Amino acid sequence: MAKQNKRNRAVFLDRDGTIIAERNYLRRVKDVKLLKGSVEAMKLLKALGYKLIIVTNQSGIGRGYLTENKLAQIHKYLLKLLKSKGVKIDGIYYCPHHPDEKCACRKPNTELVKLARDRFNLDLKKSFTVGDHTGDFRLGRNMGGKGIFVKSGHWKHEQKKIDASGGAVRPDYTAANILAAAKLIERVS
Ligand SMILES: [Zn+2]
Repeated sequence: MAKQNKRNRAVFLDRDGTIIAERNYLRRVKDVKLLKGSVEAMKLLKALGYKLIIVTNQSGIGRGYLTENKLAQIHKYLLKLLKSKGVKIDGIYYCPHHPDEKCACRKPNTELVKLARDRFNLDLKKSFTVGDHTGDFRLGRNMGGKGIFVKSGHWKHEQKKIDASGGAVRPDYTAANILAAAKLIERVS
């Protein structure tokens, strides 16, 4: 009998400024606040069959602002909070490095999505990224999928980079927030 070998699709979600409120190097569990529409968005994406994977640059570790242990506590809390609201996150991947380290895992580099691809048997071409930084939608393009820029968090600062690039840096799609992004994914997938 032929083995079914259908690969999964994923939405790679940025954390700060996309799912939860931007806090500039968030380092306390009590500062974790879900943004409006996050839970509804994630439920919709799950219902559409997407794996939900958080990919986050946490250079606060490389800069010495927080430890990996503290980050683990923050993520444990975030996962529990989302679970209590009916959302199961499939994975969280983070880059702990300072940008100067030029690592392979800091977004828009693709090391972390490749780890997720191998773990969850993902088709990256049919997957999306959602985030408020240019690095998020550039990641979507670098992995061969689609990147959605959301107008939350640091978006105004990032919009200036888009405008200044003369078209070189631009997202596949733009959405007002994570919920609008999820509805967009529903329409285009
Ligand atoms: Zn890294």
